Amino acid sequence: MTLPKPEDVRITYTSQAADMEAAHQLFDLALAKVRGEAGAEHPLYIDHRPVTSPLPSMKDISPIDISVVLGHFAAATAELAGAAIESAAAQKARWRRTPWHERVAIIRQAARLTRQRKFELAAVMAIEVGKNRLEALGDAEESADLMDYYADQMEQANGFIRDMNRITPIERNTDVLRPFGVFACIAPFNFPAALSAGMSSAALLAGNTVVYKPAQDTPWTGLKLYEIYRDAGVPAGVFNYVTGSGSVIGDPLWQHPLTDGVVFTGSKEVGLRMYAGLSSRWVKPCLLELGGKNPTIVMDSADLDMAAEGVMRSAFGLQGQKCSACSRVYVHRDVAAAFTEKLVARTQKIVVGDPTRREVYLGPVINERALRKFETLSAYAREHYEVLAGGERLRGGELDRGFFAAPTIVRAPLDSHYFREEFFLPLLTVGTVDSLEQALHESNQAEYGLTAGFYSAKTEEIEQFWDEIESGVTYVNKRSGATTGAWPGAQPFCGWKGSGSTGKGGCGPYYVAQFMREQSRCLITE
Ligand code: NAP
Ligand code: MG
Repeated sequence: MTLPKPEDVRITYTSQAADMEAAHQLFDLALAKVRGEAGAEHPLYIDHRPVTSPLPSMKDISPIDISVVLGHFAAATAELAGAAIESAAAQKARWRRTPWHERVAIIRQAARLTRQRKFELAAVMAIEVGKNRLEALGDAEESADLMDYYADQMEQANGFIRDMNRITPIERNTDVLRPFGVFACIAPFNFPAALSAGMSSAALLAGNTVVYKPAQDTPWTGLKLYEIYRDAGVPAGVFNYVTGSGSVIGDPLWQHPLTDGVVFTGSKEVGLRMYAGLSSRWVKPCLLELGGKNPTIVMDSADLDMAAEGVMRSAFGLQGQKCSACSRVYVHRDVAAAFTEKLVARTQKIVVGDPTRREVYLGPVINERALRKFETLSAYAREHYEVLAGGERLRGGELDRGFFAAPTIVRAPLDSHYFREEFFLPLLTVGTVDSLEQALHESNQAEYGLTAGFYSAKTEEIEQFWDEIESGVTYVNKRSGATTGAWPGAQPFCGWKGSGSTGKGGCGPYYVAQFMREQSRCLITE
C-alpha cells in the first residue's frame, strides 16, 4: 500500500483500531528512524545557540528498557537558567511589536510542521515516556491542534484589540490586551508534547517570550518541540530550551526578577510553592494546571459494561499517569458486585509490555521512583485493604528490562487516603455508596477538582451531578474513557480547587487571553 502523508492521517485518543493501519506503518518507520538517533549529546538552546553546561549531563533512559540510553542532555546551572531568562527579556520588545498576525502565521507553521513530524514525535514519546501508540499519536496530534486552536483565538478576537464606547464626542477609546513579557514555561513528563506546545504556543501568540523547561524524564520530546518552533521561524531568544533538574533550575527560573509570569503544568506541590512565592514585589500571573484525584460515580441505573469499560480505560491508560486518570470509583451498593466483576475481568485482559508493539495497551511507569511508590502502596493495600486485581511489579521476559507495574484495583474504606491522595500510578481504588448524595459528598472531599465521570440513565441524576460535583471537566456515560480524552476546542480542561489556579482551562476558549494584560487607550481628538 502507498502510505499517505503523515499530516493526512489523523489520530485522537479515541480513534478506533480500524483507522489505524496506515498510522501503524508510518509509526514503524518513524520508530526505526528515532531509534537510530538515540544516544546523542544535546546542549541547551538559548538565543538559538547551542550552550553547554559545566554540570554532568543527564542520561535519558527508556522506562521500557533501562539499558537503552535515549540521549545525554545538558543539565543547566542556575546561572544558565538566568542567562536564558535574560535572553528572553532582551527579545520581549521586538516580539511584542511583531504584528499579531505574523505571530499567528509562525505558530500556524509550527502546527503544520508538528503534523508533518507527528510520527517521529510520537515515536520519541513512546520510548521516552512509555506511551502506547494511540496515546503517543494522540499527544502529537493534540499538540498541533492546540497551536491552531489558540491561533484561532487571536484571529477571532482581532488580536484582542477592540473599539470601545465614547463618553464624549472628542475621544476615541480602544481596549488592547498586551503581553506581560517573559514567561517561564515548565512542563510535566506525562504529555510532554501537547502540554508543552499548548502552554508555550499560547504564551508566544499573546506576544510573550518564553523560557521552556521540559521535565527531566522527557527532554528529548522537548527538544523536538524546540526544533519545530525554530524551523517554523520563531526568532532567536523568543523560545529558549533549557534542560536540567527542577531542584536546581526550577526556582531560579521563576524567581528571576526578569520573569514576568509562570505557566506550569505539574504537581500541586510544586505549583502551590510557586504560586505562594512568585509575587513579592507585585502580583505576577501564575497559570497552573495541577494534579487530580478524579472520581467516577456508577449509579444503579448505569450501563455496567459501558461503565466498566470507561473506568478501565481511564484508570489504566498511560499507566494511570494522566492528570485526568480515574483513580477512584464510587459505585452504588445495588450494582457494586456486578460492576466490580466486569471491571476486574476487563483489567485482567489488559495487554502489558513494550508499548511500541501494536497490541500493547499498558507500558511501564515513568521511572524507578514511581515503581517503588507503586510497590509500597501495593504492599500497604495487601496488608490493610483488599486487592482485587494486580498489586505487584510485573516480571519475566521483556518486563524485567523496564518499570512495569500490574494494573491494580484496591477495595478500601471511603475514609482511606487511597481516596484522597494523587498517586499517579496504575492503581484504582473502589468503594461502595448508598446514594448519589453520598457519592457526591465523597467525591468532593478531595482537595483536587480536575475531571469526574458519571454513569446513570436518569436525567435528574445527571443534572444533580453537574450541579454539585466540584470538577472542571466532566463526562457522562462515556465508554471510551470515564474521565479522560479531552480535546482542544471540544472539552476545555479547567482544574478547580487544588487542580488549577485561574478558573479557565487549556483547550478552552478563554485560554490565550490569560497570557495578556489589559491596556485602555483613550485618545482625545480635539
Ligand atoms: P512535577 O514533579 O510537579 O514536575 C513538573 C515540572 O516541574 C518538571 O519539569 C519538574 O522538573 C519541575 N520542577 C520541579 N521542581 C521545581 C521547582 N522547585 N520549581 C519549578 N519547577 C520545578 O510533576 P510531574 O511528575 O512531571 O507530572 C505529574 C504531575 O503533573 C501530576 O500531579 C499530574 O496530575 C500533573 N499534571 C496536571 C495536568 C493538568 O492539566 N492539570 C496535566 C498533566 C499533568 P523535574 O522533572 O526536573 O523535576
Ligand atoms: Mg527517562
